[in-house]
Amino acid sequence: MAETFVYDFADGNRDLKDLLGGKGANLAEMTNLGLPVPPGFTITTTACRRYLADGHRPDGLDTQIAEHLASLEAAMGRRLGDATDPLLVSVRSGAVHSMPGMMETVLNVGLNDDSVTGLSAQAGGNDRFAWDSYRRLIQMFGKTVCDVPGEDFEEAIAEAKRAKGVRDDLALDADDLRGLVTKFKKIFVKHTGHDFPQDPREQLDLAIEAVFRSWNAERAVLYRRQERIPADLGTAVNICSMVFGNLGADSGTGVAFTRDPATGEPGVYGDYLANAQGEDVVAGIRNTVPLQDLEQLDKKSFDELMGIMSTLEEHYRDLCDIEFTIERGKLWMLQTRVGKRTAAAAFRIAAGLVAEGRIDLDEALRRVSGAQLAQLMFPRFDLSSEPTPLTRGVGASPGAAVGQAVFDSRRAVELAADGVPVILVRRETNPDDLAGMIAAQGILTSRGGKTSHAAVVARGMGKTCVCGADELEVGRDAFTVGGTRIEEGQVVSIDGTTGRVYLGPVPVRPSEVVRYFEGELAAEYSDDPLVAAVHLIMSHADAQRRLRVRTNADTGADAARARRFGAEGIGLCRTEHMFLGDRRELVERLILAATDTERADALAALLPLQRADFVEILREMDGLPVTVRLIDPPLHEFLPSLEDLAVQVAVAHERGEDAGRTEEMLAAVRRMHEQNPMLGLRGVRLGLVIPGLFAMQVRAIAEAAATLAREGRDPRPEIMVPLVGAVQELETVRAEAEKIIAEVIGDAGVTVLIGTMIEVPRAALTAGQIAEAAEFFSFGTNDLTQMAWGFSRDDVEGAFFWKYLELGIFGISPFESLDRDGVGRLVRIAVQEGRAARPDLKLGVCGEHGGDPESVHFFHEAGLDYVSCSPFRVPVARLEAGRAAL
Ligand code: ADP
Ligand code: MG
Ligand code: MG
Repeated sequence: MAETFVYDFADGNRDLKDLLGGKGANLAEMTNLGLPVPPGFTITTTACRRYLADGHRPDGLDTQIAEHLASLEAAMGRRLGDATDPLLVSVRSGAVHSMPGMMETVLNVGLNDDSVTGLSAQAGGNDRFAWDSYRRLIQMFGKTVCDVPGEDFEEAIAEAKRAKGVRDDLALDADDLRGLVTKFKKIFVKHTGHDFPQDPREQLDLAIEAVFRSWNAERAVLYRRQERIPADLGTAVNICSMVFGNLGADSGTGVAFTRDPATGEPGVYGDYLANAQGEDVVAGIRNTVPLQDLEQLDKKSFDELMGIMSTLEEHYRDLCDIEFTIERGKLWMLQTRVGKRTAAAAFRIAAGLVAEGRIDLDEALRRVSGAQLAQLMFPRFDLSSEPTPLTRGVGASPGAAVGQAVFDSRRAVELAADGVPVILVRRETNPDDLAGMIAAQGILTSRGGKTSHAAVVARGMGKTCVCGADELEVGRDAFTVGGTRIEEGQVVSIDGTTGRVYLGPVPVRPSEVVRYFEGELAAEYSDDPLVAAVHLIMSHADAQRRLRVRTNADTGADAARARRFGAEGIGLCRTEHMFLGDRRELVERLILAATDTERADALAALLPLQRADFVEILREMDGLPVTVRLIDPPLHEFLPSLEDLAVQVAVAHERGEDAGRTEEMLAAVRRMHEQNPMLGLRGVRLGLVIPGLFAMQVRAIAEAAATLAREGRDPRPEIMVPLVGAVQELETVRAEAEKIIAEVIGDAGVTVLIGTMIEVPRAALTAGQIAEAAEFFSFGTNDLTQMAWGFSRDDVEGAFFWKYLELGIFGISPFESLDRDGVGRLVRIAVQEGRAARPDLKLGVCGEHGGDPESVHFFHEAGLDYVSCSPFRVPVARLEAGRAAL
């Protein structure tokens, strides 16, 4: 039997989205709910894919269209394009994923020189309406099907209005419109070389093909790339009998939402335009009125619409958006779908539907995302100050940034060094701008999308960025937008979530949701419905999740904050910052030590300082595990740079002075210089090469724990050895550490675990051996990613990532979201072999991926025990861990 390419609206349903597209599936669903949908049928996405692959309509499609058209004509009692009583149809695109405004629709198909008269008769002799509909068809058909430039049609309309001395389209009468049709036909011939097709079926077939082709229109391709929608799905085509909102004052067209898509608040939201066809509402040709006003204009239709909206909410159990038309007092539903919404609305709607008993908590949890929660945690602009909008671009990296506009990187660095907040404004950025980007509060560009250099680098740095604000003319020392010129030093405010740009400083408001996590707003007493919604859904996520969530924290203050955010321990406490500040001098003594005694003295002086650090952190995390990583970075990072030292020494020599200690330091830095520090003397290698270094840290940890235990507290330290690639490395460190721990802890009753990071590919591949010497593994996915791919993050993010993203080599940066295929494979191998060797091996992750929603799902699937992320990401990880468990 031939493949089915065409489904009647009555034969489809909402589960057939892949086949019928979103619009078609939902038109079918509404039809079957008994709602007033103008009858019609849908041509499948399969037919589209076949057309695009073969270059012609697939065999059998034409016949099936003819059959469905015939039954539509029978049902309507009218024939397509009939001269006396014509049926007209719209030919509408409708892809699986909503791609608003990206593809084409042609209205009024079936009109020609004869049927235009029939249409007038149908409308009780309304010539104006008939000719207006005809000119719309030629215009839309010309633009969409035959690539006739739209401006030519618009110019002809403008000219007709000028000739008549009127400003409103509605002031053109039937004769004017008849004249326009003649002009439009001439424009059509001029650009296509043939007449506007009079045969209704030919119009229909050509319009269908044009909708098929619009799948590959440039803007649609770009949109899909931006939104990560697969390129090979194709669009369905809906043939829908026309209803007319432009038949007079008792007709009209509108859009509606079942709740406010901005806040999630229930109520009547939408716009209505009397005496208009669908396109006019979005096109903004005339001013719409709020949907509430329809109650006055046409109470019967309004009431019916309210009833339908509640039916749809009940049925879809979600916010729906709707397109409708009223033809002479009769309401018709033309489209519905589960509506897009803001992050705040997503939480409020989900919680609201739970309260109404329409969905359960699992479903509510499915309907929100970590990305949305993260959005709600950024500080926001206080728009009640009514700031002056300048323009809008793509929100590429969220946050609210305020600063003086500067136009080059050097200037940004200078001003920032003086404590002046700046926004770096560029046409687009390149690697030379890196220093300026780091110095700036935020970045604004006029070109490029979410994968541009500016966007990729800004996200990597966690810096606010708006890119692709294409109305901006960016010059050397100013930018202009509209008529406004903004010079260096003038303040602008950019919103990296919405992409909006404002003139002048906009006050920034801390996030309510963060205040709630901080414990400043108790959800039970809060009258903020958003906070209550977040509380409800977070509590459910916590109850569902299997993964524990820890935090990366190096200070007592961070640990305390993370604990308020729900962290269940520390997954990564870096010790390197404990070697900075006023301890630098001691560290220099350690590094430059010429004898064992000098080194031992330096270490002895560091010991009490380190111990105090650990006491503070373990105290904040009392009762919860704290993983301390022994020192990791190459030691030369703690010394001044080679260039600085060389200059100082040269200057001293020039003056005939003795550079003394500086010279000594220079010699040491020269000696320690590495071509690839990332792959050099760091991590466990330091511990094996520098006598006493790790021992001092282990002792400090053990002493801190023993002290707290004797105070009656419950410290749970875990010692983590970085950069292990071979079990022998770990065994050596372990043997020394165990001795010290036994000696220090004595009978204090503290257990100290010893484990390792898995961040060198060899460690993942020999995890079975390494697990013999490790009580836990923690995946360091930043290094693991760098080493698996063979590139260093600092070098590549600015240099070529944008190109890789553009070429589709990456769908997303592997530093943002874990590369499942490669790095993920290493993780799985290590999990499996590690657990096989030691069934009670604790497994966690402490790279930044621990707070990335996609990656959290992967770690759940891979069977880890916990993820660890920065304090602000802890709630996001909790939520996603809950969703992963559903
Ligand atoms: P989009 O996907 O861009 O919204 P649509 O296919 O929904 O495109 O159609 C564009 C406009 O035309 C909408 O306002 C829609 O309501 C209107 N429209 C589509 N089909 C019909 C029809 N059969 N009768 C009346 N208006 C229609
Ligand atoms: Mg629509
Ligand atoms: Mg590392």
